[in-house]
Amino acid sequence: MKSGSSVFTGLGTTIFTTMSQLAAECGAINLGQGFPDGNGPDDVRARAVEFLEDRPNQYPPMAGVPELRQAIAAHAARFYGLTVDPVRETLVTSGATEALAACLFGLIEPGDEVVLFEPLYDSYRPIVRRAGGVPRIVRLEPPHWDLPRAELAAAFSARTKLILLNTPMNPNGKVFDVDELGFIASLLTRHDAYAVCDEVYEHLVFDNRRHIPLMTLPGMRERCLRIGSAGKTFSLTGWKVGYVTGAPALLHPVTMAHQFLTFTTPPNLQRAVAYGLCKDDAYFASLVGDMRRKRDILATGLGELGLKILPTAGTYFICADIRSIGYEGNDETFCRRLITEAGVAAIPVSVFYDQAPPRHYVRFAFCKDDQVLVEALHRLRMGIAAL
Ligand code: PMP
Ligand code: GLN
Repeated sequence: MKSGSSVFTGLGTTIFTTMSQLAAECGAINLGQGFPDGNGPDDVRARAVEFLEDRPNQYPPMAGVPELRQAIAAHAARFYGLTVDPVRETLVTSGATEALAACLFGLIEPGDEVVLFEPLYDSYRPIVRRAGGVPRIVRLEPPHWDLPRAELAAAFSARTKLILLNTPMNPNGKVFDVDELGFIASLLTRHDAYAVCDEVYEHLVFDNRRHIPLMTLPGMRERCLRIGSAGKTFSLTGWKVGYVTGAPALLHPVTMAHQFLTFTTPPNLQRAVAYGLCKDDAYFASLVGDMRRKRDILATGLGELGLKILPTAGTYFICADIRSIGYEGNDETFCRRLITEAGVAAIPVSVFYDQAPPRHYVRFAFCKDDQVLVEALHRLRMGIAAL
């Protein structure tokens, strides 16, 4: 029998699904897969209900409903001072996952090189490879995950089509600063390359840092595609409403890929997200304030257990070094045992690497109710010493 695509037949179920299933089977608290507790903002959900009843539910326009495209442009102007033409420069997708696939399928020609940072989000590599791209992976090192400028410069060549940049970065919580972005920008200009910017955690940046879209740097407006996700911005990960912003010439092939991937995204969820993006500043301030408090609860608690944690500047996640509590096995066995023996799920960070991963970091998600975090810490206190 002929086999399927070698890119996908060699893959297993994602670690997020695997750990969530195991957590559910064992009654463990799920600090693995990054989804918030709770049900998202009441008013955004209420709008969706209202729109589902009152507005059409047939195929919306392929690139998104006008209300949401307007709201995406207004949001880009309000938060980043970017002037975006809603009609020519925005595209609504079914989550950032589809946005990433549409960007990569839309831009990559077989043989093109794609620069990626490691640790990397799990969907990047298979989609780059399926698009025929050749991954050039540059590794960031803990604890500060600084940009290795010489390695990055060496990864670029005349064959580089694009870099895939995730800031704030999953799983390590790094937020790229303006100097690092400037260095990346200079490489893009020198090599006539593009950037696909996964900015799904744009509103989750802590401690007076600022999220800076690469697109806002000089010369980058025409070279960047910027991806956002209502899943993260409104704590509604199941809705799968994402969006891409970019100059018309760059966005066009992405839109053409999107029309054959999903074609459209549920129209009334789009309309509710349009309402959400126009919410006042207090909403965005409380989103980040709540998440920073949760980060601090988890970071302090893990530290009190003797776990050495790495600093988290943004996202939903904290990484911890399991060697610091004397654990000598690898991150995956640690996570499996943590579920069955301590009743808490986490994600082994080695899955975010291509080859020769570090095997002593685990990722905990803190986007959970405060009391859930407190209970998870209690369980860890009881269970961790025995691992
Ligand atoms: N990019 C990153 C870095 C993520 O962590 C996620 C996970 N949620 C996504 C993309 C996918 O986002 P969405 O749920 O909107 O498809
Ligand atoms: N982005 C989420 C995480 O990193 C998972 C999304 C998924 O399960 N595909 O936890």
